[in-house]
Amino acid sequence: MKIICIGRNYTDHIEELENERPEDPVIFLKPETSLVLKNQPFFIPPFSNDIHHEVEVLIRINKIGKHIQQKFSYKYYNEIGLGIDFTARDLQSKLKEKGLPWEKAKAFDGAAVVGDWINKSELPNVDELQFEMTKNNEVVQSASTSLMLWKVDEIIAYVSQFFTLKIGDIIFTGTPAGVGKVSENDILEGSLEGRKLFSIKVK
Ligand code: ZN
Repeated sequence: MKIICIGRNYTDHIEELENERPEDPVIFLKPETSLVLKNQPFFIPPFSNDIHHEVEVLIRINKIGKHIQQKFSYKYYNEIGLGIDFTARDLQSKLKEKGLPWEKAKAFDGAAVVGDWINKSELPNVDELQFEMTKNNEVVQSASTSLMLWKVDEIIAYVSQFFTLKIGDIIFTGTPAGVGKVSENDILEGSLEGRKLFSIKVK
C-alpha cells in the first residue's frame, strides 16, 4: 500500500507557515514503513528538534482505479478516518529552501499515524466533517472539511491522474491551522464527528 498526502489544503494553515497558495494540489508520498503500528507510541527521531503534529482526515481506497472522474470518486472509498502527518519541520524548512524533495522530513519511520476507520454511511457528507485533535487534553487543531481548498472527490480524481490507486491505499487530505511541536510524554488524541479515533503517546 501507499500513502498519498496533500499539502497546503487549508488556507489558514498556508498562512501560518507563510506558504504560497498553490495552483494545483501539493502531493507527496509516505512509504508503508512510515506507519506507526497499532497501540505503539510515536518516537521523536534523533535527526529533528522540531517535530510537528498535523491532524488530517483520511480516506481509505477500496477499489483499484486510474484516471478517476470526479463524479465517480465516491465509489472508490467506503471508510473515513483521522490520523497524524508527523513532520520534521526544521528539516522540511531546510529542504524547502533548497527546493529539494520533502521525504526525509515527511516519510521517516513513524511519520504516519492512522486511527480507527468509520464507514462513511455512518457520517455526514464528507465535505462537512468536524474534526479535532487535543494535546494533553487541550484542543490544538479543530476544523471542518468544508474549509478544504480541494475537496475529497477532487483530490481522488487529481491524484489518480498520476498514481494508480489500489485497495488499501490511504489519502491524507491536508492539515488545518494549529500545527505545533510535540514533546516527550505528550498525549495526542483525535476525534472525527465526536468519535475518538486515535490516542498516541510521544516518546
Ligand atoms: Zn500534512
